[in-house]
Amino acid sequence: MKKVLFVTSEAHPLIKTGGLADVAGSLPKALAELSQDIRVIIPNYQAITTQDAHYRCTVRVDNRDVNILETQLPESNVPVWLVDCSELYSTPGNPYLDENGEPWENIAERFAVFCRIAVEVAMNRTELDWKADIVHCNDWQSGLVPALLSLEEERPKTVFTIHNLAYQGLFPPATYHALNLPGQLWNPSGLEFHEMLSFIKGGLTYSDRITTVSPTYALEIQTPEFGYGLEGLLSHRQDILSGIINGIDMDDWNPKTDPNLPQGYDASSLDKKLINKTELQKQVGLPVDAEIPVFGLVSRLVQQKSIDLLIEIIPEIITMPIQIIMLGSGDSNLERELNNFARLYPDKISVTIGYNEKLAHLIEAGIDVFLMPSRFEPCGLNQMYSQRYGTIPIVRHTGGLADTVVDAMPETLADNTASGIVFSDAEAGSLQEALKRCLILFKDKKTWSKLQKAGMKKDFSWKNSAKQYLDLYESM
Ligand code: ADP
Repeated sequence: MKKVLFVTSEAHPLIKTGGLADVAGSLPKALAELSQDIRVIIPNYQAITTQDAHYRCTVRVDNRDVNILETQLPESNVPVWLVDCSELYSTPGNPYLDENGEPWENIAERFAVFCRIAVEVAMNRTELDWKADIVHCNDWQSGLVPALLSLEEERPKTVFTIHNLAYQGLFPPATYHALNLPGQLWNPSGLEFHEMLSFIKGGLTYSDRITTVSPTYALEIQTPEFGYGLEGLLSHRQDILSGIINGIDMDDWNPKTDPNLPQGYDASSLDKKLINKTELQKQVGLPVDAEIPVFGLVSRLVQQKSIDLLIEIIPEIITMPIQIIMLGSGDSNLERELNNFARLYPDKISVTIGYNEKLAHLIEAGIDVFLMPSRFEPCGLNQMYSQRYGTIPIVRHTGGLADTVVDAMPETLADNTASGIVFSDAEAGSLQEALKRCLILFKDKKTWSKLQKAGMKKDFSWKNSAKQYLDLYESM
C-alpha cells in the first residue's frame, strides 16, 4: 500500500472550474478502491462549502500560521485536507480569478503558501502524523512542491501531472524574492524560464515522473506547436514522461441514473433519450422538434476550444435545419459574439453564459451531437461523457480527443468501433465538412444508432487508468 498525497488546486464537487477538478474528485477514489492510502490537499477557498470540515492542526510557514482542516471526498473515505488561511483564500471568486474575472493579484503567493504547506505535510512535519511515500502534483499551482522537496533529505517520490501545459504560472523575477524561495532553485535548469519565475518548471524539472492526461498529448507537448518553449525540457525527460488517459466518474455521468435528467435511459432504451431532448428544447426556449438534429457545446469559452471556428461557420450552417445549444463562459468577446447569434436566430440557437452543472448534464443527454473542435485538448472529458450518453462527438484529431473517439469510416463502421466524427485541420472549412458528414450519418437512423451504441458500450471508467497510476507509483 502506498501513501499518496494528491496536491490539487480544485476537486469536484468541492470546487471546480474545469477538467482537473473532475480528475481530482475521481482518481483518488479509484486509487482508494485499489487499497491505497490517498489524501487530497487543496486550498480552503471561500467557495468551498463543506459542512463537516474539522480542525486538525496549525502549521507555520514563511512567517504565517496556516490551519489544516479535514473533510472527505463525498461518497468516499478519501480524506481531504483543506489548507485554511483566511487572508489568502477567504475572498469571493474562483481559484484563479477574483469576483471581476481578473486573475488574483496575489495568485503566486496564494499557491506558494499552498505548496509550502503540502511540503510540510508530505514530510510529516505537522501534527497530522502521516508521511507520504508519493506526492502526486497537478498543474502549475502545485509546481513548487517537487522543487522544494528536491532540497529535502529522505523525501517522498514525486509525480507531476500536466493537465494543461498552456497554463504555466509565470511571474516576474521580483515575485521570486517576494516569495522567499530558496536561491539555489533560481537558475535556467531550475525555476527560471527566460528570466521569469515558472511554477510549472518546478514540476517538470524536479519530479521523479511526469505524466500527462493522454498518450497523444504526451507526444504533442514534445513539439514546438504544443510545447510553449518547454518542448526541449520535455523531450529531454521523455524517459520519465508518459500519458495516462483520464477516466470519468461513471456514477456522476450515468444516463440511466442521472438525477439531473427528466428521463433516464441506457443503450437498450435509447428511444427515451428523446424525452430529454424535448425537455432541453423547452428549457432553453427552442422549438420542440424531435427530428431536427441538435448540436451542443459545454465549454470554457477560450481560444483553445476553437469557439472562433464555430463562430466563423455559424452564418452558413444555420441555413440548414439544425439547432445549436451552447453553455459556457470565458472570453468576453466570444461570449458577446455567441449571444449575438442567439439574438439573431432565436429559434435555432440558444446560448447560456455561465457555469451550470445541471444544465451541462441535460445538454449531454438532450442533444444529438457534441461539438469539440479544440485546437489542443490534453484529455477532454465531454467527448467521453457524450459517448456515454449516446451523443455523437465531433472532435478535432488532437490529444485525448484522438485517443478516445473513433472516426466513422467504412471500416470502423463495419467493425462497430466508430463512435464519432474526427477531423484534422483547425480550420473553419474542416469543421464545416465534419458537420456535413455528421448530418449525412444522422439521416441514416440505423447507422446513427450503431454509432450511439458503440460509444455507450465503451469503458471510460477510472479502473484501467487508476491501475496505470498505481503501476507508476510502484515502479518508483
Ligand atoms: P477543460 O478542463 O479544458 O475545461 P475538459 O473537457 O477536460 O476541459 O473538462 C471540462 C469540464 O468542465 C467538464 O466536466 C465540463 O462539463 C465542465 N464544464 C465546462 N464549462 C462548463 C459550464 N459552463 N457549465 C457546466 N460545466 C462546465
